[in-house]
Amino acid sequence: MNLLIKGGRVIDPSQGIDANLDVLIADGVVLELGQGLAAPEGTPAIDASGLIVTPGLIDMHVHLRDPGLEYKEDIATGSRSAAAGGFTSVACMPNTSPVIDSKAIASYIINKAKSEALVNVFPIGCITKGGKGESLAEMGELKEAGCVGVSDDGKPVCNSELMRRALEYAKGIGIAVISHSEDLALVGEGVMNEGFVSTELGLKGIPWAAEDIAVAREVYLAEFAGAPVHIAHISTVGSARIIRNAKARGVKATCETAPHYFTLTDEAVRGYETNAKMNPPLRSAADVEAMKAGLADGTIDAIATDHAPHHPDEKDVEFNVALNGIVGLETSLPLSLKLVEEGRLDLNQLVSLMSCTPAKILGLDRGTLKVGAVGDVTVIDPAKEWQVEAAKLESKSKNSPFLGWKMKGRAVYTVVKGQVVYQA
Ligand SMILES: [Zn+2]
Repeated sequence: MNLLIKGGRVIDPSQGIDANLDVLIADGVVLELGQGLAAPEGTPAIDASGLIVTPGLIDMHVHLRDPGLEYKEDIATGSRSAAAGGFTSVACMPNTSPVIDSKAIASYIINKAKSEALVNVFPIGCITKGGKGESLAEMGELKEAGCVGVSDDGKPVCNSELMRRALEYAKGIGIAVISHSEDLALVGEGVMNEGFVSTELGLKGIPWAAEDIAVAREVYLAEFAGAPVHIAHISTVGSARIIRNAKARGVKATCETAPHYFTLTDEAVRGYETNAKMNPPLRSAADVEAMKAGLADGTIDAIATDHAPHHPDEKDVEFNVALNGIVGLETSLPLSLKLVEEGRLDLNQLVSLMSCTPAKILGLDRGTLKVGAVGDVTVIDPAKEWQVEAAKLESKSKNSPFLGWKMKGRAVYTVVKGQVVYQA
């Protein structure tokens, strides 16, 4: 629980710090930031010279598949994958089996994480009972049990009146509402982005309008209710524009995108590549550019992976029947650092997107290295080159479109409450 991290470039946007400093953690909390700090004898030390030291990274959107789908991932393996990716905290979505719509299931996750997880695991509960979209879940009970947000992720809440009530009620008790925004009628039987590539491949397309229309509804409901809303995994030019406009007129709308949406286009689907099948689907080059611009200008608040492990039997099948989603925890940081390399983001923005702002949206006492804060820290080597290999991924599942990719940058130490839980 004691650790001295010496001589790294500390980047902590929560305090406006970007300087070479030592970080001293004692009893699991940040005790001091400064130069030439001395620690009591026997305190373990990390030489971070040439490395970047940040508040522990937070992935606010992962699927740990536990309970019920442990053949894809479980809390222990998912947390190892997170630690290897530099994440000290993850928020896990409730579409497990059973779903997280009760105190009992939320407590199961929290207790199992306490004994088996390397990183902090914060459960997200359902918006609606059973995630069925028919009536509201007991949000108060979920919050009391430790849920940090509510979402029916995987599906939209189709009923606008129910979503209005959800936003109003959640505002009253102070819990974040995370919307999976999708117009299911427009999605129909689509399996990839609707466009040139879907036509060439003879696959049914999902139009961008299916996302934009749903995002617009959430923004208007939030405006009407005077309540915050967070939009999960945006992927289109239109979603970014709608949220940019909403923010400009004071609507409390926040959103996230995932590394695959600012890295890949629907060209990646060619060859009927099921590791490029996800929901929302990979879009066009213009959409990729809109994600980068949105991250740069503050329209997009967070980078989240939507880490979605699947068994090979669910991916090594015909494209139309393959399940949606990819693992993302171990590739998120280098893909995001690439935007820094390209000059689209600076490191302060990156740390805000991957730590400070997700903490704020979920109301976590994380995302900062302020004295007295929990000693969650990520130490990053931005120059470290490595290759993504299935056998080396900590996740139980290997469904990544980035297998074989050469990456630059990775977490070399992941520190949770002053303890090194991962070392490269
Ligand atoms: Zn979703």
